[in-house]
Amino acid sequence: SLAEKLIEVAPAGLSRVFYADNGSSAVEVALKMSFHYWRNQGQPARTRFIALSGGYHGETIGALSVTDVALYRTTYAPLLFAPILAPSPDAYLGEIGESASDHAARRLLDMRALLQRHAHEVAAIIIEPLVQCAGGMRMHHADYVRGLRALCDEFAVHLIADEIAVGFGRTGTLFACEQAAITPDFLCLSKGLTGGTLPLSAVLTNDAVHAAFYAEYSAGKAFLHSHSYTGNALACRAALETLAIFSEQPVLASNQTLSAHLGERLAALADHANVADVRQTGMIAAIELVRDRRTREEFPAAERRGMRVYLHGLERGVILRPLGNVVYFMPPYCVSTAEIDLMVEAAIEGIERAVA
Ligand SMILES: *Cc1c(COP(=O)(O)O)cnc(C)c1O
Repeated sequence: SLAEKLIEVAPAGLSRVFYADNGSSAVEVALKMSFHYWRNQGQPARTRFIALSGGYHGETIGALSVTDVALYRTTYAPLLFAPILAPSPDAYLGEIGESASDHAARRLLDMRALLQRHAHEVAAIIIEPLVQCAGGMRMHHADYVRGLRALCDEFAVHLIADEIAVGFGRTGTLFACEQAAITPDFLCLSKGLTGGTLPLSAVLTNDAVHAAFYAEYSAGKAFLHSHSYTGNALACRAALETLAIFSEQPVLASNQTLSAHLGERLAALADHANVADVRQTGMIAAIELVRDRRTREEFPAAERRGMRVYLHGLERGVILRPLGNVVYFMPPYCVSTAEIDLMVEAAIEGIERAVA
């Protein structure tokens, strides 16, 4: 039942569902399935993956290999495989005066150059569409995702969309890929899949991938990835209930009102001397704290300015988990406008104390 429901709401063309029990496992499944697809197709040389700088895909060995967040990765680097890293389309990293869309176009040129050199040995490109979350809530233009789909088609490389954090309404649409009007070859889902209540993940893929594994037993083409709690029935029931809430209640419409409210409240920080960027995609908003907004000079990490905002938040009854010097909001969809006001007020007070 859940597989049928997921296929109904997912981007067109995703027609097959493979279950796992957490986000990192879903990423492992997508990486292994892509590699194995090419092997079954007689292309065993495709053993590498392209990942984006600043990306986060989980903390098991394979998922951590394609993750580029030093905090999680550095210690284990000797154990990990090396992906081909492409520069992030993060709009904040664009040239002064360059639009997010122009920056995306420039980063797509880098990706084209990488593919020209490496496509023959690449199985898939993995990205977090629209927002690189754990890496600092770094946001890019939907044009990047659209352009990446076109490049993957041109060079015959899979596209893995890791929507574990951004899926299920977080960016304003049910799935982030919808904003680029594309269908990935693999869509990784978890977190919001059960409304955060029970551990479950799913990897959606298409008929072509499924067909590459469909053969007589003796051909040995099957995909073996069999964790004990894969597709746990209770967790699937929770996911069905979550999807029912999306169809019975105006969750996405209500998120639009709430995220507009959040954006209005955050406008107060736009000209702050220690804020270089206030960015928002749907129900994710982030504030980039810097020593000097004109030069974007960063606060040294050791000063832990974000931590000071967090400690002030606790005093006000608000959890403001920082990512280094980035203060962010990712509220549950049941948040009220009054709670958003409290949340932003606590953050602004906390920022004043943190930069003093
Ligand atoms: C959280 C997350 C993961 C890992 O999920 P876990 O369930 O914590 O293993 C993978 N990718 C993204 C984008 C995430 O945000």
